[in-house]
Amino acid sequence: MEEKTKEQKLIFLRNTVRNIPDFPIPGIQFKDVTPLFKTKESLTMLTEVLLDEYRDKGITKIVGIESRGFIMGPIMALELGAGFVPIRKPGKLPAEVFEEAYEKEYGLDKIQIHKDSLSENDVVLIHDDLLATGGTMLAAYNLVKKMNVKKIYINFIIELKELDGRKLFPKDVDVNALIDYSI
Ligand code: AMP
Repeated sequence: MEEKTKEQKLIFLRNTVRNIPDFPIPGIQFKDVTPLFKTKESLTMLTEVLLDEYRDKGITKIVGIESRGFIMGPIMALELGAGFVPIRKPGKLPAEVFEEAYEKEYGLDKIQIHKDSLSENDVVLIHDDLLATGGTMLAAYNLVKKMNVKKIYINFIIELKELDGRKLFPKDVDVNALIDYSI
């Protein structure tokens, strides 16, 4: 069988994401990424198109955001010859942490990273499954920024365009999403 082009792979992946209306609450159109991981075919395609963007960037650490950033994060890390670092909700990481608070719909939320997980020689790719308002990723970006790493890239599988979460990030930061949707 002929190798698919990048465009063909992206169309396939877009059609594989499942829309769940009114989950977790009425009015939310939930983008379910689990079908992307379910078959060898889609998991392979997803891995290939994600890696395409980052092969020549000298990335040394993938930082994944709990919990859906923990699926493709380690796969990308292995393929790029990088390490993997988790960002987690409070009370989960056992050693000393840095913490960042951010606004959610209902009040403040917090995320944490181990203090010794990144150094100034690291080129970091922060990964999560989906960009909505951008609050979660902005908090992750601020957390990693505090650690004086060499460079930060940001990556999502999906971007919900109309929420314009992208605007939260400085113009010189490379923010990439594979698939975008207008909700
Ligand atoms: P935000 O901080 O608003 O950008 O929200 C991003 C986080 O919430 C991501 O970790 C997503 O997994 C999750 N999320 C927000 N909206 C949706 C949606 N419509 N479908 C699936 N996941 C979502």
